[in-house]
Amino acid sequence: MLRYAQDVDGAHSKRRSLRSAEILAVGAELTVGDTRDTNSGEIARSLTEAGATVARINVLPDRLRVVAGAFRAALRRADLVVSTGGLGPTPDDLTREAIALVVRETPQVDPALETWLRQLWTRRGLTFPEINRKQAWLIPSATPLPNPNGTAPGWWIDRPDGRVAVLLPGPPREMRPMWTEHVLPRLRERGLGRGLLSRTLRLSGIGESQVADVLGDQLLRRTNPEIATYARADAVDIRISAVGPASAARAARRGPGRSATQLLDETEALVLARLGAYVWARGSTTWAEAIATELDRLGWSLAIRETGTDGALGRLLGGMPRLRRLEYLPGGRTTGGEIEAEARATASLSRAEVGLAVDARPRRDDTLITIAIATPTGVQRERHLGFLGGVQGRSRAALLASATLLRRLRAIERAGPAD
Ligand code: AMP
Ligand code: MG
Repeated sequence: MLRYAQDVDGAHSKRRSLRSAEILAVGAELTVGDTRDTNSGEIARSLTEAGATVARINVLPDRLRVVAGAFRAALRRADLVVSTGGLGPTPDDLTREAIALVVRETPQVDPALETWLRQLWTRRGLTFPEINRKQAWLIPSATPLPNPNGTAPGWWIDRPDGRVAVLLPGPPREMRPMWTEHVLPRLRERGLGRGLLSRTLRLSGIGESQVADVLGDQLLRRTNPEIATYARADAVDIRISAVGPASAARAARRGPGRSATQLLDETEALVLARLGAYVWARGSTTWAEAIATELDRLGWSLAIRETGTDGALGRLLGGMPRLRRLEYLPGGRTTGGEIEAEARATASLSRAEVGLAVDARPRRDDTLITIAIATPTGVQRERHLGFLGGVQGRSRAALLASATLLRRLRAIERAGPAD
């Protein structure tokens, strides 16, 4: 154990992979509530996608001691610390001063950066404001990150223990390209998130709390693999993530290690045994993608007529390949006939093999949802009472229609040409 710790923290520091991260959003405009911190969320999402764990997000005012204290603490806990903001030219921007204090180095004007900075003004015939000279600062352990959209270069700082600190400018239009073009590729090279694997199961027809109930406390409290549930607009997602034995000291302590893939396989099987009936997709598959895959397989196209849904189904499936026709009719009209006939009619109007008709109407506080699906093998109708009315009831109608259609298409073996 001790050897492992020395190994990663000592001479072979470059081997430290970057698994845990903390984010610092610096700026008084954030802590007084004038500006929303959108940077942290974007960076957190990107780090999570890359397999790193974001352990904390801190929002801090432009105060030297506060920012320095936050860097110091974060650099003790996390492999990677990313800050945004406080790289402006004015005295209140002091993120550079703060990190210099923490790593005990003195900032100095970097000649190359100064040349670059000065020509931003001189090429427009303007005099260089000396106040901006601060943006040409560097400390010995920092390398500059180019900023094509502003005057503040970022800083990449390698710590002797293999940790990394990255300082980015606050304006999102400067932060984003620097992050995606200069920071993320370099972080990947340094082993960002290596070792963490994850899988997502997408469920419908069951609520998040019921999912949690079925999985039980014991499963949900495990840390490797970790199981988390997310209530998204279009599904309840179960995300299973695991690290292999060599990739975390904690996992190593647990003894003869199984690989991350083995851990995921075992846990996924457990989850599927309990909730498999509700799983309709994996990863980040959308309803439109899942349905388009089935239509592709069958070589069929689709026509939709939705009534009383305020276009919710169109918003979910619109733009989908193989969607020939999308009709929306306001609710409250008296339907001339059976909904089965509507499903057939919308299909035949556009020469599609599949017709989907859905009708949503308020029923006390809930929504009465009727769905008919016509395929070359026949028409089927279903009726459900969807929880809640209004927007929620209407979006439930759209989800239910999509789920019903997907289930129906999947049950069809193959397209018979003479059907
Ligand atoms: P800076 O000069 O680097 O401190 O950044 C200045 C500007 O960037 C602020 O006035 C905000 O408009 C924007 N900004 C700073 N931090 C954030 C953040 N965390 N999220 C969104 N915008 C931010
Ligand atoms: Mg600022």
